[in-house]
Amino acid sequence: MSSIIRYPSFIKECDVIYETVETSLINELTPSGYLTIDLAALRRNYAQISNRVAPARAAGVVKANAYGLGARQVAAALLAEGCRDFFVAEFVEAVQLRPHLPPEARLFVLNGLQPGNEALCASINAIPVANSLLQLRRWRETATTLGRRLKVVIQFDTGMSRLGIAPEERGAVRAILEDAPLDVLFIMSHLACADEAAHPQNVQQLAEMQRAIADTQRTELSFANSGGVFLGSDYHGGLVRPGIALYGGAPTFGVPNPMEAVVRLEVAVVQTRRVPASTAIGYGASFLATGEMRLATIAAGYADGLPRTLSNRGAVYFEGTRLPIVGRVSMDSIIIDISALPEGALDLGSLVEVIGPNQSLDEVAHAAGTISYEILTSLGGRYRRRYV
Ligand SMILES: *Cc1c(COP(=O)(O)O)cnc(C)c1O
Repeated sequence: MSSIIRYPSFIKECDVIYETVETSLINELTPSGYLTIDLAALRRNYAQISNRVAPARAAGVVKANAYGLGARQVAAALLAEGCRDFFVAEFVEAVQLRPHLPPEARLFVLNGLQPGNEALCASINAIPVANSLLQLRRWRETATTLGRRLKVVIQFDTGMSRLGIAPEERGAVRAILEDAPLDVLFIMSHLACADEAAHPQNVQQLAEMQRAIADTQRTELSFANSGGVFLGSDYHGGLVRPGIALYGGAPTFGVPNPMEAVVRLEVAVVQTRRVPASTAIGYGASFLATGEMRLATIAAGYADGLPRTLSNRGAVYFEGTRLPIVGRVSMDSIIIDISALPEGALDLGSLVEVIGPNQSLDEVAHAAGTISYEILTSLGGRYRRRYV
C-alpha cells in the first residue's frame, strides 16, 4: 500500500529540512546510552589473526553492518591494518560498502545474487559467491552477455546443509565452468561446529572439503570462520574469514577468549526509587521486592537490543558492583536493584555498564540465553556511537 502513496512535493522538501535539523540536533543532545567501539582493539584482533594464519591471508567479515558496529568504520580500520578482502552477506550491503573501499580491495557477497542483480554486481566490481548450480549458471550467462571475464567464488556444502553445492553436483560444476568466461578465485565452505574444537563434525567437513578440492582440481581454498582459525592450519586454506573474533567475541567455547574486547555499552539512569518489601516490579509483576529495596530504571530495553530473556536474570555494573536486573525487560527500560550501592551513588544521568570490563559481551549473551553474534547485531540505533 504505502509504495503507491504520493506525497505532495512540499512535504518532501519539509522532510529534507527536518532531516538536516534532526542530524545536527542529535549530536547536541545528551544521549541516554553510549556504544563505544574501540577500532584500535579491532585492529589488534585482526593483526593477531593475521599473524596466526600466515602465510594464509585474513579477510574481514563485515556483513550485517559489521555485526552492528558500522561496516564503513570497521572496513576503514581493517584496511589500515592491511586487510584487502571483505565479505558481506547480501548484495545490498555490497552496493553500500563498495564506494568506501579502494579498487584493489575484493568484496565478496556470501549469499550470492538474487535474479536481476547480476549486471549491477559486475558493474560495481563485487564478487558473488555461487552457492548453487543455478547461481553459477546465471553468473556464467552474465559474463557471456557482457562479453567479459567475471570473477566468482564457488561454495560447496560440506555438512551444514545451508548454502553451497552438494557433493553429487560437483560434476555439473565442471561442465558449467568448461570454456566459461569465469575466473574462480577460490572455492569455499563453512564449518557448522567450529566453535566446539573437539566436535567430530570439524574433521568430517575437512575431509569432505578435501574431496571437493580433488573433484574440482582447485587449490585455492577458504574454509575457516573465527572458530576455524583456532582449529589449526589444516583449516586455514589461503584465506580465512573471521567475523565475531574481530569484534571481540569468543571464537571457541569453553576456553579463555584470546580476543580483545571491542565494544563497551553504557546506559543512563532515568530515575531511582525506594520500595517497601513485596512491591511488584515491572510488567507482569514477575518480581516482588524481597525486602526494602532501592531501584534504578535505566534507559534501554529490548528495542535497544537487550533481550527480554535477561528479565530477572541479567545484571549491569556500576564501579565494579553487580546490580541485578529485577522484573521484566521493557521495550525502552530495565529496572535494576541498586541496594548494594551507597545511598545516592546513582541518580538521573549516571551511566551503568552493560558491556565492558566487568561484564563481557559473551557473558551478557550467556545470561540472555543467546550468542554474542545476536547481541551485537541487535544493538539498536538509539545509543550514541563513539569510535575510538
Ligand atoms: C558469518 C560467516 C563467517 C564469519 O563467521 P564468524 O563465526 O563470525 O567468524 C564466515 N563465513 C561465512 C560463510 C559466514 O556466513
